[in-house]
Amino acid sequence: MEAPCMNKLKQKEFTLASVTDLTSPSSSSPSSSPVVATFSCVDEVTELRFQESESADDFSFELSSTQLFKLGPLQFVCVSDKDNSLSRGVVIMFRDDKESKDFSDSFGEWTKDAVKKGSGLPNGTVSDSTSKFDNKIEAASAKMYFHYYGQLLHQQNMLQDYVRTGTYHAAVMENRSDFSGRVVVDVGAGSGILSMFAALAGAKHVYAVEASEMADYARKLIAGNPLLAERITVIKGKIEDVELPEKADVLISEPMGTLLVNERMLETYVIARDRFLSPNGKMFPTVGRIHMAPFADEFLFIEMANKALFWQQQNYYGVDLTPLYGSAHQGYFSQPVVDAFDPRLLIAPSMFHVIDFTKMKEEQFYEIDVPLKFTASVCTRVHGLACWFDVLFDGSTVQRWFTTAPGAPTTHWYQIRCVLSQPIHVMAGQEITGRLHLVAHSAQSCTINLTLSAKMWRPGASQGGILQTSSCKLDLKEPYYRMSQPQVYPVAQEPPAQPQDLQIQSEDLEEVELLQQNANAQL
Ligand code: SAH
Repeated sequence: MEAPCMNKLKQKEFTLASVTDLTSPSSSSPSSSPVVATFSCVDEVTELRFQESESADDFSFELSSTQLFKLGPLQFVCVSDKDNSLSRGVVIMFRDDKESKDFSDSFGEWTKDAVKKGSGLPNGTVSDSTSKFDNKIEAASAKMYFHYYGQLLHQQNMLQDYVRTGTYHAAVMENRSDFSGRVVVDVGAGSGILSMFAALAGAKHVYAVEASEMADYARKLIAGNPLLAERITVIKGKIEDVELPEKADVLISEPMGTLLVNERMLETYVIARDRFLSPNGKMFPTVGRIHMAPFADEFLFIEMANKALFWQQQNYYGVDLTPLYGSAHQGYFSQPVVDAFDPRLLIAPSMFHVIDFTKMKEEQFYEIDVPLKFTASVCTRVHGLACWFDVLFDGSTVQRWFTTAPGAPTTHWYQIRCVLSQPIHVMAGQEITGRLHLVAHSAQSCTINLTLSAKMWRPGASQGGILQTSSCKLDLKEPYYRMSQPQVYPVAQEPPAQPQDLQIQSEDLEEVELLQQNANAQL
């Protein structure tokens, strides 16, 4: 194996116009005389040493833990985080373009030779405690995820969600005082839109951190808005891995996935908080809530049950398909349904579970356990649990909520419903209890375990004793997108139109109509 230090005995020097130490208050003005920067390798350690020509002061950065960021044609920031604790940063000014380019090329070459954390060494592997992301997320999942976000069409989809983007814009602009003159970090900047909102609101500087190839597009978009560009630095890399030259006063991010937690980006958001936010800094958004309510929807239930009927055929080109019927049925009922539904399908007032982004620890997202308790407002069959979320921008001037609730203007998150393969029966006023248990998995999503129970109800029998319980296990990574279905639930108050193209088994139809009439009468 090749020795890690290939430039042994060689060294390379650059003369810089000036160097400003960002981390030492005593020397926060630029050096008064030119500074010589030297790349060298001493005892297998590759380093970059700065020495002011008319002073005895010098200091060095170990290249294995140093990053270089370009702020402008002649200006760079160099940050070192030795031992993952104390970071040191300097702003470097070059005398001309050529020197700046040569220096950054050399930096790349010399860092390649430096011993990288996590890389192989003859006697083992240097452990990398900062790469939290790679430790918990499968490489294949991350690759697909960042490939998806690297495409403009998906960023456009989010930008065109005007409820979402408009609410972020309003929340920033209404709270200018939180941004004006402040250092902001945009966590997962995508196209850079939120960075530009922050700059428009007067931010002193915005660090736009984006891990996907979208970072290059963001640079291009931001450069095309020159008044904002001088106050925005795009940094391509994962929040978990990058270093920033200074602490932030504000974090802005759009880390919400379906059911809030899908994509596991909330974890990245709180990691950014712990790594970059000053102690009294603000987070936009500040708090999230998962809302839940039981629902009754015979159309949806039958539609799902019917999907597996294909496997009931005993003579499919002479082959009996029934051995796989059970698995197919289970497969369909393990998909959370994503669509926009009529809130009149909810059969009890909703409850919510609060996630405070300013306090929640990263590990607390690995498993979220929510005890459920509702009171049914109608007599019906309960088909499962409907969920949506909202987030709060707790600005100093205006507190603004952004909601994805049914009945509110639809967003690209829609709502999700966990459908039970065995519905439960309830009477008006009856209590429904249960548990929603979310367990994060390494494919950037989670397994949903849902249990709903209600006491058995028989005419004449006193309520009590036996519980009817129904459970399901769903993978949030594999949703059933139902948005292309015909609009079954008109928003107007007229009686619902009868859908023409849903396959409904005839014996179920009467029950559907009866229950739908009941629900309409009682809500
Ligand atoms: N802020 C943009 C994009 C939001 S989508 C907007 O509001 O329009 C979330 C973005 O975060 C994606 O572009 C994704 O690539 C990025 N992202 C997700 N996890 C990240 C991580 N760990 N580090 C850096 N970027 C991340």
